[in-house]
Amino acid sequence: MKALINIDYTYDFVADAGALTCGEPGQAIEGKIVELTEEFIRNGDYVVFAIDVHDQGDKYHPETKLFPPHNLRGTSGRDLFGALQDVYSESQQRENVAYMDKTRYSAFAGTDLEIKLRERGITEVHLVGVCTDICVLHTAVDAYNKGFQIVVYRDAVASFNPKGHEWALGHFEQSLGAVVK
Ligand code: ZN
Repeated sequence: MKALINIDYTYDFVADAGALTCGEPGQAIEGKIVELTEEFIRNGDYVVFAIDVHDQGDKYHPETKLFPPHNLRGTSGRDLFGALQDVYSESQQRENVAYMDKTRYSAFAGTDLEIKLRERGITEVHLVGVCTDICVLHTAVDAYNKGFQIVVYRDAVASFNPKGHEWALGHFEQSLGAVVK
């Protein structure tokens, strides 16, 4: 069994005016993310939207010192970007579609993602979203440590950092045993 983990493809991370945007590379993967998401939903595979959330001025959160405020709770910065929001809106009632807030880079950190995957007998996670070398990377590392097989789509992940993007794709394949396609 497999699942698609859809990571942080939100207005703040992708739109030109987003608070912490990948910009053009992020916008360029919209079609592929939408295509894969629709395909997984249609096939009855599990699809998880794992979306960053922060509280304004959270002094305990390490990202407060590292990045400008982004994906703040209750703001439109957390809306899924472009057509992905429509795909989610149309499918959110389906039992194979889930949305979970995450507060750290990894979709496994502080969420019930692992429980949801294990109870469904899922052994293979497919990763799409942003940023390749931050949240996708940390999710992949956790998936590796927990024994999941990993698939990453090079045309459905992106970063504001081209070198980090390329490095992470190599790391997925060479150090995490992922299939990068
Ligand atoms: Zn964040």
